[in-house]
Amino acid sequence: MPRYEYRCRSCGDTFELSRPMAESAAPATCPEGHEDTMKLLSTVAVGGTAAAAPAPSGGGGGCCGGGCCG
Ligand SMILES: [Zn+2]
Repeated sequence: MPRYEYRCRSCGDTFELSRPMAESAAPATCPEGHEDTMKLLSTVAVGGTAAAAPAPSGGGGGCCGGGCCG
């Protein structure tokens, strides 16, 4: 299940939730209970994505970022 990062606009906290991709845009409540949150750009937990652009055995590339898998 993919992890999504959210930021709370009430307390400024950032937190992660593991939820189905279909619910990635659904409202998320911050750990403090605030409901005024916004979804941050997806941060897929892969080490060093910036430098290692091409995946060794991907072919398509960036699949999990485009919402075509899951
Ligand atoms: Zn909060």
